[in-house]
Amino acid sequence: MKKVSRRKLLKASAVAGAAVATSGFAQTFFSRPARLLGPARGSRVVIIGGGWGGISTARHLRRRNPNIEVVLIEQNPSFISCPMSNLYLGGVKDLDFISFDYTNVVKAGVTFVNERALEVNRAGRYVRTTSGLVHYNYLVVSPGIDYMYEAIQGYSEVRQFLPVGFKPFEHIALKRKLDRFEGGDLVMSIPRPPYRCPPGPYERAAMLAYYLKSNEIKGKVIVLDANPGPISKAPGFTAAFSDLYKNYLEYIPQAEVTAIDYAKKTVKTGLGEFEFDLANIIPPMKAGEIVRASGLGDRWASVQLPTFLSERDDRIYVIGDIVGNTPYPKSGQVAYNVGKIVSEHIAHRIAGRRLAEIPNPLPDNICYSFVDSEESIWVAHKHDWDAAARQVRQQATVDNQRSKQNGGLALEWARGLWSDMFGPEV
Ligand SMILES: Cc1cc2nc3c(=O)[nH]c(=O)nc-3n(C[C@H](O)[C@H](O)[C@H](O)COP(=O)(O)OP(=O)(O)OC[C@H]3O[C@@H](n4cnc5c(N)ncnc54)[C@H](O)[C@@H]3O)c2cc1C
Repeated sequence: MKKVSRRKLLKASAVAGAAVATSGFAQTFFSRPARLLGPARGSRVVIIGGGWGGISTARHLRRRNPNIEVVLIEQNPSFISCPMSNLYLGGVKDLDFISFDYTNVVKAGVTFVNERALEVNRAGRYVRTTSGLVHYNYLVVSPGIDYMYEAIQGYSEVRQFLPVGFKPFEHIALKRKLDRFEGGDLVMSIPRPPYRCPPGPYERAAMLAYYLKSNEIKGKVIVLDANPGPISKAPGFTAAFSDLYKNYLEYIPQAEVTAIDYAKKTVKTGLGEFEFDLANIIPPMKAGEIVRASGLGDRWASVQLPTFLSERDDRIYVIGDIVGNTPYPKSGQVAYNVGKIVSEHIAHRIAGRRLAEIPNPLPDNICYSFVDSEESIWVAHKHDWDAAARQVRQQATVDNQRSKQNGGLALEWARGLWSDMFGPEV
């Protein structure tokens, strides 16, 4: 599997930190500017977003039918995985562990356009990017989430000082802040759902506390949760907080952050004000901006059920965390599985099958959460289609008993999917 060296990555992240527009080491070697692509030859599938949903779609399309032209538009020159990023913050894994580049994606025959997609013109069937227009026969949109800074008074103005770490690359700035933290109150907050990765913030809380404990830093993680209790794997997280981090973590439910005063280093909640020495405030979330710019949805994009076709356009598939009208968790596993499903769907259409003839499998999910350097808990979801009610039904199974065995399975899960997405073809 092609990994990015730390030196290259830090160089790239300097660009990425400032919301990468175009340049970067990856682009120098193998990206194609949109303006040079020309019209589609045969069947061109364009994908917006080179993350969990987009890469899975690209790789599976090329495997399914190498005659399909696949164009991937990604604003960053390389990729950092959010899954397992809490291990990096906790000091358990280094940055290289969660960092990847697109070399093998390009070797698999995908055209990589290292640019930002600005708008989809549905009537003309093209994507406008920072350098030109990319025409498509089918489009897959998987840009992930954006933050609703506007939901917290005073946040927009100081966002550059407060990396959230729920999007690729932001982990680096957050880790630097953590490395400089000498003690005191580390306030982190959790929004109401829907947001990316329901258990993610609780895993974050545990791994921040692990970091303080293992480095003997005299500080405490104060977790301000807008919810009445952990919204995922509650018994597992609650047990870990009290058994492992009694002196390092304080969990406060029903404490929605409504305002930040960065100068005074305070956050406001319905339960009063909290002072912080370091803050990791996770705001409410919405779909990436391209969804609204292209008229594919408002806060989230809606799909036709049970397919992942946009409610507004039969040529466009919307996948990953941006989907709003299903019970699917906003997870990398679901984004990956749906990428696989839509690649099959598109290949069938290109082969001439009508929509009504194409099968519509539903994605399953599994999501592991580490609570210390080795132990993990998990939740899994099975989905099926209730044709009479025209609804997706969900059934959950959970293991709240933290164990090293689960930790091993979590690492195996991540390595397996990363290898399929970023590794060489076998
Ligand atoms: C702390 C944390 C822990 C997590 N742990 C897990 C876990 O253990 N298991 C799990 O299954 N999931 C986990 N997740 C969730 C997982 O990261 C997301 O569900 C997954 O990344 C969603 O995939 P996506 O394709 O929608 O978005 P992403 O993977 O974020 O990919 C979106 C890509 O689109 C690009 N992009 C955005 N807008 C544009 C544009 N206009 N033009 C060009 N490119 C654009 C972005 O740069 C990005 O590379 C975790 C998330 C977090 C934050």
